[in-house]
Amino acid sequence: MADKAQRLWHPFADMSRIPGHELVLARGEGCWLWDDVGRRYLDVTAGLWFANVGHGRAEIADAAAAQLRSLAAYSIFDRYANEPALALADRLAAIAPIEDAAVFFTSGGSDSVDTAAKMARRYWQLRGHTERTVIVARTNAYHGMHGFGTALAGIPGNAAGWGQIMPDVLHVPHDDHTALAAVFAQHGTKIAAVIGEPVIAAGGVYPPVEGYWKQVRALCDEYDTLLIADEVVTGYGRLGSWFASDLFEIRPDLVTTAKGLTSGYLPLGAVLVGPRVRDELWSAGAGMFRHGYTYSGHAAACAAALSNLDILEHEDLAAQVRRLTPVLAAELDSLRGLPAVREVRHVGLLGAVQLAQPEQTDTLVARLRERGMLLRGLVGHSIQISPPFVITETELRKFAAVLAEELTELGRDHAA
Ligand code: PMP
Repeated sequence: MADKAQRLWHPFADMSRIPGHELVLARGEGCWLWDDVGRRYLDVTAGLWFANVGHGRAEIADAAAAQLRSLAAYSIFDRYANEPALALADRLAAIAPIEDAAVFFTSGGSDSVDTAAKMARRYWQLRGHTERTVIVARTNAYHGMHGFGTALAGIPGNAAGWGQIMPDVLHVPHDDHTALAAVFAQHGTKIAAVIGEPVIAAGGVYPPVEGYWKQVRALCDEYDTLLIADEVVTGYGRLGSWFASDLFEIRPDLVTTAKGLTSGYLPLGAVLVGPRVRDELWSAGAGMFRHGYTYSGHAAACAAALSNLDILEHEDLAAQVRRLTPVLAAELDSLRGLPAVREVRHVGLLGAVQLAQPEQTDTLVARLRERGMLLRGLVGHSIQISPPFVITETELRKFAAVLAEELTELGRDHAA
């Protein structure tokens, strides 16, 4: 029976089971969190894949506070601007995996996806190809929970149960470019864009198969279609380079980002837009792009992002990710062969352990929580491993040792 005294409605929760079981977090520092009764936890997932520079960074708080005191926000619709938004756009263009990019600010990843989808469709409308409205997405995909993102979802549970949201979406298997080729052969002239996460994240952490993105880019070129890289998780260093698009040579036309842009200190997203789409949408005669958000270019959020990028650069955290990558890989690989483990997957500072018995996922998450380690299950069969970049090798190995112990226990449970 639902508890009607409960006022906080948790996202992605079965609210018949939450009241009385909340874990209230009170403080964070680096990769550590404390709850309201002072228990300490290792943050193995960087919140929802965002706290890349770690929790409790006074410099980001100070930068945001200074901006809040001078000008918290003013809309950047039409001709209005603010210094942090201008500076951040320049800075993102300089590191973008697209030459000569323009930057459109949003309030988060779902906003960025909807924005990119509308830009892609608008591009073809302006070019007179009004039939090009289809967006191709992939199985296991997570592209946020707005209208477009829900329609594009490749995690079945997320897409179903709302009635039809957007008709012009096609799905292909995430690891098979030949299926994409077949869809192009059949629907090529109707396809506005292909969207994909360089590494499937919420759908279970699936790195791309060798050569996949080059094939996808080649198909998009052949059929003259736009390619959107959803780098909401992979952007800003998670794989040891600024963007996964660089690593996998994706050459996207649009890149959606959020999360690591501010490391979650304030909500902010950005779409990085290449010249092909920008030039069409900015051309004389294209008229107003009738899209934007109240908090697009929010001054304090942009100030937090600038400070976050300073930290990433000054502390060379991408190099730290590259140092930790083989450590995580070796630790996860050593779990292969345990009876409780079906598969391990990893790339950069991103990993998943898939359980042989999916129903043990919640048990594993609960046992690790009891042992002071916070992480979560993905798509009902895997656990997410995506710590802040500031985790030390010792902490990462300690986590892996505890994980191995608990997986060994679970193996005994199902032998019993
Ligand atoms: N795209 C991807 C790849 C994501 O992982 C997420 C969030 N996990 C989103 C989009 C949506 O971001 P937000 O929750 O900030 O709207």
